[in-house]
Amino acid sequence: MTEIQIYNAQKKAKMAFTPIDANNVRMYVCGPTVYDFAHIGNARPAIVFDIMFRLLRHVYGENQVTYARNITDVDDKINQRALDENRSIAEVTEQTTAQYHADIDALNVLRPNIEPFATQHIPEMIEMIETLIAGGHAYAAENHVLFSVKSMPEYGKFSRKNLDEMIAGARVDVATYKRDEMDFVLWKPSSDDQPAWPSPWGNGRPGWHIECSAMAKKHLGIEFDIHGGGLDLIFPHHQNEVAQSCCANNTDRMANHWMHNEFLNVEGEKMSKSLGNFLTINDARKQHPAEALRLMMLMTHYRKTINWSKDSAKEAVAMLGKWHEKTANIGEVSSADIPANFIDAIADDLNTPFAISLLHKMAGTPLKAAAQFIGLLYETQADFISFKPAGIKINAAYIEALIEQRNTAKTNKDWPLADKIRDDLMAKSVVIKDSTNGTSWEYKK
Ligand SMILES: [Zn+2]
Repeated sequence: MTEIQIYNAQKKAKMAFTPIDANNVRMYVCGPTVYDFAHIGNARPAIVFDIMFRLLRHVYGENQVTYARNITDVDDKINQRALDENRSIAEVTEQTTAQYHADIDALNVLRPNIEPFATQHIPEMIEMIETLIAGGHAYAAENHVLFSVKSMPEYGKFSRKNLDEMIAGARVDVATYKRDEMDFVLWKPSSDDQPAWPSPWGNGRPGWHIECSAMAKKHLGIEFDIHGGGLDLIFPHHQNEVAQSCCANNTDRMANHWMHNEFLNVEGEKMSKSLGNFLTINDARKQHPAEALRLMMLMTHYRKTINWSKDSAKEAVAMLGKWHEKTANIGEVSSADIPANFIDAIADDLNTPFAISLLHKMAGTPLKAAAQFIGLLYETQADFISFKPAGIKINAAYIEALIEQRNTAKTNKDWPLADKIRDDLMAKSVVIKDSTNGTSWEYKK
């Protein structure tokens, strides 16, 4: 059996993965808060843990893996969005969830086995909060319930942060109802225009962290194998999930393996609405074939920062164009066709960049089987080639092919043909530039 290795941040080393129950391997990943279009940074964990899901299913069997990824559909950002746009909260969460599904389905991300919605697990959250209060780990004050950080001596160990870092990272509010400034909210009161559920502490709503602890426990049990999410979730979100789950369930761990994907920059800069480089998955899908977006995510190892750029998009489109060409006549393939060293690369802490380097050396059946294993080459070659960015009449793979034809024409000193190809591209809003390094191109603005 393939041995899976997963990087352990506490031990700063890769560790062999042994599931608690090989007949039911369990993974939880923090899903989106559904208030707005998902951006390409949100697509990263969806794709990274999709690779892990596919690997686990390959190694342990398709029906031996349970993957839960939640939908956070109660959150102050959702309330604000509904208020700003004069829409109901249900409309905002339903439409945003549908958009999220459409976006990540297009990226060939498999649906998890379970997709729990926070609003459908309020009784489980209340029960967990009551357990925490009974155990002396939480207290009610002014219609709030707070987790008492001092009740857990190991608090902070998971995120390996000292008190000052935690105070800065959690952006703690000093509030009269808190015994200690680090104490965090498990339950809070709602005003008349905010979503509310009855509870022993009055009408209110849960804090974000308790949602995941309650949903993970319900669907995966008090201890499970892998918990994943973006690096930004380590503190405070995952630290607080660990605190709640361990104290409520009387365990010393929530999950055996924690995996965090790194950040994603755009053209070397942090993505932000104020910098104007904010890119939704939906907009990215209009610019590049979805397969290329997926490949761009996998060209960088999940523990390294991705630099999302026009150049990496071109590179991904060119690679896929070649692979489609090399597999155009291959029919159905099976997992038995995947070269063993390719599976080994993925099993080695999801080393997708190395796996992609192996794809370059393959052709035919093994190439198609290996590429499909990581969710690529799912479109037909015809669909891939016919993709056109919004407002552009020609696709990148086709441009590359025409540039190659033009280079051949130049080598053959067929100047009229070379000029005709350049003019044809120009007519289709593509400008080519010749230099000593070869020919480059860009879309004419
Ligand atoms: Zn979570």
